[in-house]
Amino acid sequence: MPHGRSAIVIGAGLGGLALAIRLQSAGIATLVLEGRDQPGGRAYVWRRDGYTFDAGPTVITDPACLQELWQLSGQDMARDVDLISVTPFYRLL
Ligand SMILES: Cc1cc2nc3c(=O)[nH]c(=O)nc-3n(C[C@H](O)[C@H](O)[C@H](O)COP(=O)(O)OP(=O)(O)OC[C@H]3O[C@@H](n4cnc5c(N)ncnc54)[C@H](O)[C@@H]3O)c2cc1C
Repeated sequence: MPHGRSAIVIGAGLGGLALAIRLQSAGIATLVLEGRDQPGGRAYVWRRDGYTFDAGPTVITDPACLQELWQLSGQDMARDVDLISVTPFYRLL
């Protein structure tokens, strides 16, 4: 890490990643430590026999939070991610 302010974020779930983006965007050199083999936390994705399984969230309930993170780092979320509206949001049978 360079000289100056620095931070370590433990956990690369959505919360840890969001915090790390905010710290890094504020000019604080940030290191993220994750205990698992890939980032995501509860939003972990795993694969078996050619299938991909979501371990957690399937619906983004507040896309503005994500857009803010892209903006903080000078990026355009629409260039990286296609958000698709879910209609109806829920169907209870
Ligand atoms: C089944 C399910 C469905 C969900 N559906 C939705 C949804 O539709 N929409 C929505 O908005 N939210 C949903 N959520 C909630 C959302 O997934 C969580 O709120 C969010 O992922 C939590 O993120 P987090 O970073 O706080 O914690 P976590 O995702 O728990 O991340 C913590 C990370 O820290 C790591 N860690 C912990 N201790 C250490 C250590 N000592 N050293 C190194 N690494 C460590 C863990 O391995 C993990 O990767 C759902 C959750 C579940 C379980």
